[in-house]
Amino acid sequence: MDSDQSVLLLNSTFEPLTVVPARRALKLLFSKKAHSIEEGNAYVRTVRAQVKVPSVIQIVYYVRKPYLAPKFSKRAVFMRDNYTCQYCGKHLPKPTIDHIIPQSKCGKTNWYNVVTACHACNNKKGDRSLKDSGMRLIKEPHEPKFLVYSAVISPARVKRWEKYFYPELRDNERELVAAAINSSMVSA
Ligand SMILES: [Zn+2]
Repeated sequence: MDSDQSVLLLNSTFEPLTVVPARRALKLLFSKKAHSIEEGNAYVRTVRAQVKVPSVIQIVYYVRKPYLAPKFSKRAVFMRDNYTCQYCGKHLPKPTIDHIIPQSKCGKTNWYNVVTACHACNNKKGDRSLKDSGMRLIKEPHEPKFLVYSAVISPARVKRWEKYFYPELRDNERELVAAAINSSMVSA
């Protein structure tokens, strides 16, 4: 079960701002500076009761904050890909990294050309391009915005938050949330 107590704090525009500990999130909720967007599974014990900690909250006022790009590293690539080979889908604790366009063919070492691979797939692909190898990626690599936080967050929680970091996933969700907020306002 995902019992992570960290809470994703969204800006009023639905963009992720930061990750806060459970107690800070609850303080923001109780002082009406934020509202709950998504429920979590964890509880925090207070003097009087057990309080359920949300997974995602949204601040009610707009916060100006510059976008913080994540640092590229081998480990960060593994985390982005959830330690899963991007060719065969095998999950492994000690993967390798593969350059989609090989370094020998001037392939760059960046978010868009480097993926997690198992040893077998890495060997199979060798020094060939994707086309020449006939291999396929299970998804297109991108720069992972959530990695700023994911070092301390459980993979299950990061997965649940992905939609807030990727607009194409988020737009649908945003409509659903907006609809939920509207309907709760009507009934209140
Ligand atoms: Zn593989």
